[in-house]
Amino acid sequence: MIVTHKHIVKIGIVGAAGRMGRMLLKAVAQTSDAELVGGTEAAHHADMGRDLGALAGLEALGVPLSSDPHDLFERADVIIDFTVPTATAAHAALAAQTGGVLVIGTTGLEVQHQEAIERAARHCVIVQAANYSVGVNLLLGLVEQTARIMPEAYDIEILEMHHRHKVDAPSGTALALGRAAAKGRGVDLDEVADKVRDGITGARKSGDIGFATLRGGDVVGDHTVIFAGVGERIEIAHKASSREIFARGAVRAAVWAGSQKPGLYAMKDVLGF
Ligand code: NAD
Repeated sequence: MIVTHKHIVKIGIVGAAGRMGRMLLKAVAQTSDAELVGGTEAAHHADMGRDLGALAGLEALGVPLSSDPHDLFERADVIIDFTVPTATAAHAALAAQTGGVLVIGTTGLEVQHQEAIERAARHCVIVQAANYSVGVNLLLGLVEQTARIMPEAYDIEILEMHHRHKVDAPSGTALALGRAAAKGRGVDLDEVADKVRDGITGARKSGDIGFATLRGGDVVGDHTVIFAGVGERIEIAHKASSREIFARGAVRAAVWAGSQKPGLYAMKDVLGF
């Protein structure tokens, strides 16, 4: 009889008590080839010391919420990070130091945070995506292709809506869609992005990629990319109705990342697009 041993990936969640953190705890518990080995939160978090299972609304796991990322990076094969930019940059440095593998979902990163991630990825495996849903990653490809085909006379506008607690705008996904459209057109998003319109703005500049942000209620994430021409309009849209899709995608990325060589990867690498 041949006995094959399935490789179990040990996963740690930083920011485990956050909205996404709790979803991630649940998603890891539901993945047969992954095991939850710990979770951290910012020091002094109200849930410090609570059982991670209880935190996710599951049975007790016997693993308490901690504030020590060093210990977690030593014990876990892969760390999943949906926190805040400063914490993510520090976790990237820690991954480089310990040879850990990091899956990053945090958005709203500034240049110095992104540089810290890129520096770290020379020494360890990092997967970074503004959106871990399979659907949005398909959308990124469709938007790039549409932008390549449609002439510049078609104005590109990106509309997004998120829940009232979201702190960054436009969303990381809207910016990723903007980058995909810019890539399709062969331009640099930073040179054509129009993110704020107020007052007498003058006519729309041809070639710009416009962004509009809506915030309210409990919307998980809606994105629409509009190609507006004279006489017709193309709209490519995605609507997320549960955060579970991001958590499941991030855990899939974590299982995949465990066996890669150092470098910075995107969700399309994980999905093989
Ligand atoms: P949240 O505020 O509910 O959770 C963030 C958590 O990180 C908080 O609990 C906070 O205490 C914790 N944290 C802060 N500093 C920490 C530290 N030093 N160590 C450990 N934990 C720390 O926010 P959220 O809705 O869960 O979103 C988190 C991030 O993920 C945001 O940037 C959001 O835009 C992003 N996000 C990405 C995707 C994706 O698919 N990539 C999907 C949803 C949300």
